Amino acid sequence: MNIQTELNREQSEVESQVIDHDLENRYLLLTPGPLSTSNTVRKAMQRDWCTWDKEYNVLVQEIRQKLVNLSTKNTELYTAVLMQGSGSFAVESVLGSVIPRDGKILIINNGAYGARMVQMAKYLNIEVVELNYAETQSPSLKEIEQVLQDQKITHVACVHCETTTGILNPIKQIGQLVKSSGKIWIVDAMSSFGGVPLDLADLEIDFLISSANKCIQGVPGFGFVVAKREQIEKCQGRARSVSLDLYDQWNTMEKYEGKWRFTSPTHVVRAFYQALLELDIEGGVAARFKRYQENQRKLEQGMQKLAFKLVLDNTVEQSPIITTFLYPENEKFSFQAFYEALKASGFVIYPGKVSDLNCFRIGNIGEVYPSDIDRLLVAIEQYCQKEL
Ligand SMILES: *Cc1c(COP(=O)(O)O)cnc(C)c1O
Repeated sequence: MNIQTELNREQSEVESQVIDHDLENRYLLLTPGPLSTSNTVRKAMQRDWCTWDKEYNVLVQEIRQKLVNLSTKNTELYTAVLMQGSGSFAVESVLGSVIPRDGKILIINNGAYGARMVQMAKYLNIEVVELNYAETQSPSLKEIEQVLQDQKITHVACVHCETTTGILNPIKQIGQLVKSSGKIWIVDAMSSFGGVPLDLADLEIDFLISSANKCIQGVPGFGFVVAKREQIEKCQGRARSVSLDLYDQWNTMEKYEGKWRFTSPTHVVRAFYQALLELDIEGGVAARFKRYQENQRKLEQGMQKLAFKLVLDNTVEQSPIITTFLYPENEKFSFQAFYEALKASGFVIYPGKVSDLNCFRIGNIGEVYPSDIDRLLVAIEQYCQKEL
């Protein structure tokens, strides 16, 4: 066999393996991101783009405008900026770029993502006060109000849907306290934006952070920030990092109409545009919220019928994003075995993250429909009958 024939054969073997094993979705992701995307979103990535070509920059500008339109009725007050990296990079770019050297931030923490913001603030040498709550508890408005009397505090940050448990934090009430004390209001709405209706102007949010691979149902690769224009305009020269300088990134996108400072995740951006179109086709955030709610209710009721217990009680608000369940009280239960069995049936679930509880999580977001939840419940019931 000559070398060319051999190479061709190897190539076609590689291709057939890729097609057999990698291009088809082998399971539905019931995780809080990356999540299952539509075939059309994935297909939108099959072309290369020149980052400084006008056509690409127009696409970026349209995305920025669509994000603002999704965020509020008062679109003229807000502006959007995209940032390379996963969602945490976008969070870190906000913390590192908007708080002045003499600023101080209050971070409300009732889960892993609140804790991550505290860690970021410390790394960035930002003075931080932390209000710490159990993961299954809502923050206390009274305590927040008290702490906000500290005149040195300039900024407040909180997670909206704390994906650790699926709890929805009361950002409306917290925001009212933040604003009546004259502080800047930062919300990590990573896992809720696009899936839970909200209006930034009504909530008086100054900086909201989310990412491509959560409720907009794009693929991973960048995060974004929707900011009050008059606030981001003040942030020049505050950044503690070049790559994560939110102001500079925004200013470049504004000035050069859709240009990124450094290599942009072009394929991911194009897929995100497709995902935004599909959100619109579905009926916008209200329709998506309804689908997620239906998924969540079906899941919660079905699991309770199978004797699984919820970790969150009804003193807190359960989001339609992700639900946490306790391990069943059965010595034979092994999460790893349960996980593997469900994966073999075509579903990937998520381990728990609550510090002192044995639990697991099931997400409802992404290209997931109530009929998928029905199928999942059948698989779980069969597993329980056979193995427990
Ligand atoms: C997903 C998520 C993030 C970001 O996580 P990455 O892994 O960096 O994408 C931040 N906050 C919340 C609440 C999230 O759900």
